[in-house]
Amino acid sequence: MLTLMPKSMTLGSKLEVNNRKQILVECPICTLVLTVQNYGGQTVDVCAACRGLWCDAGELSAVVNALISEKKVPDADSSFLAAARQHEDPDPQAKPCPRCRETTESFNFAYDSNIFLNRCGTCDGVWLDGGEIRSVAQFIKKMSQI
Ligand SMILES: [Zn+2]
Ligand SMILES: [Zn+2]
Repeated sequence: MLTLMPKSMTLGSKLEVNNRKQILVECPICTLVLTVQNYGGQTVDVCAACRGLWCDAGELSAVVNALISEKKVPDADSSFLAAARQHEDPDPQAKPCPRCRETTESFNFAYDSNIFLNRCGTCDGVWLDGGEIRSVAQFIKKMSQI
């Protein structure tokens, strides 16, 4: 079980943010404890089993930009943007937020990418299934080339 910090140790919001990073979070799919990885200065939580990835609020775009600037993103093929926008998540699995345990909501990234990510309405973090970070990065890269 998680050990919560005593109230006396939460001194100011900055410290709370740092402490938050040290709380172990579990993969919403495998319930495996996520491991912290560094992408371009951003620390994200990654599942070693399914390669799913958790980004806290605001981290996703920084992680994607880091991947693109490090040239780790292959070009998307030309059919990538041809598909019509889907309104339904093809994988509507309920995934709890690793931080707050609230049920996350799936959404179509950038409205019409057809990459369905899960966002927590409480902490605004985003869950990406294994490989979705690459799809998002390819999508952003493609959009920036048009
Ligand atoms: Zn997992
Ligand atoms: Zn949350």
